[in-house]
Amino acid sequence: GNNVDKMERIETTGNTKYQGRDDRATSEQVLDPRTRLILFKLLSTGFLSKIDGCLSTGKEANVYYALGGTTTTTAQTTTKDPNPATATEYAIKVYKTSILVFKDRDKYVSGEHRWRNGYCKSNPRKMVKVWAEKELRNYKRLWERGVKCPRPVMLKNHVLVMEFLGTSGWPSPRLRDASLNSKRMREAYVQCCLILRHMFQRANLVHGDFSEYNALWHNDQVYVIDVSQSVESDHPSALDFLRKDICNVNEYFRKAGRLEVMSTRQLFEFVT
Ligand code: ADP
Ligand code: MN
Repeated sequence: GNNVDKMERIETTGNTKYQGRDDRATSEQVLDPRTRLILFKLLSTGFLSKIDGCLSTGKEANVYYALGGTTTTTAQTTTKDPNPATATEYAIKVYKTSILVFKDRDKYVSGEHRWRNGYCKSNPRKMVKVWAEKELRNYKRLWERGVKCPRPVMLKNHVLVMEFLGTSGWPSPRLRDASLNSKRMREAYVQCCLILRHMFQRANLVHGDFSEYNALWHNDQVYVIDVSQSVESDHPSALDFLRKDICNVNEYFRKAGRLEVMSTRQLFEFVT
């Protein structure tokens, strides 16, 4: 079979490069036909040369590892280069379309002036598309304003292609899983505080689900991920979301990191 079939095999055997926080409960599922078609097109046009393994299975999305092809506009021959040392590595986030979990995301979308139209609560396929678009836009803005995050590459419906944060096929760990010494831990804390501040001040965004699970430790630096639920700072609940993000960060570094951290109030002042 083709690469897409292989993805399913990988998924069904639960043979992943990276064990996420979720267990293998979702490993039985297969890709729906629309997703298969999108991925198949990315492969057949040479945008990708290979989809090779599952990085994470979550309740709202799965993330796959892929290698870029050599689709240049001028090339008559699309030489596919499946060698991680030379090909571009991508992470592909595939949103799940068959779900009720999007119900509890409502609080993020209601009150967002960017999404007055197009968020169709009765159509889960449209809904996930909006979430994927939201994540793309948020990543774009963060990337443009110099906040460390994966570079967004392209979006097709509910399939988001972005820069892979890792080395030669091995994903960088979440902050939660990176065993840092106390010096690194302190640096990571400072970087998290700065991410929240820069998100707020440069990009006008509040993450909304920031924690040690949604930050990757990549090349000795913190990168922020999972920004589909991030809201504009004028969202009616933005400051509540921010307070929660701040508490998550402080708690993690205080407990797991054994650091002396700022008070919620101090960090809130710093960020805003
Ligand atoms: P979810 O909504 O399932 O939490 P995330 O965006 O947090 O989705 O991604 C899930 C996991 O996939 C992350 O914890 C991380 O391990 C991996 N991942 C996501 N994006 C990337 C990326 N760009 N590079 C490497 N790994 C990634
Ligand atoms: Mn996440």
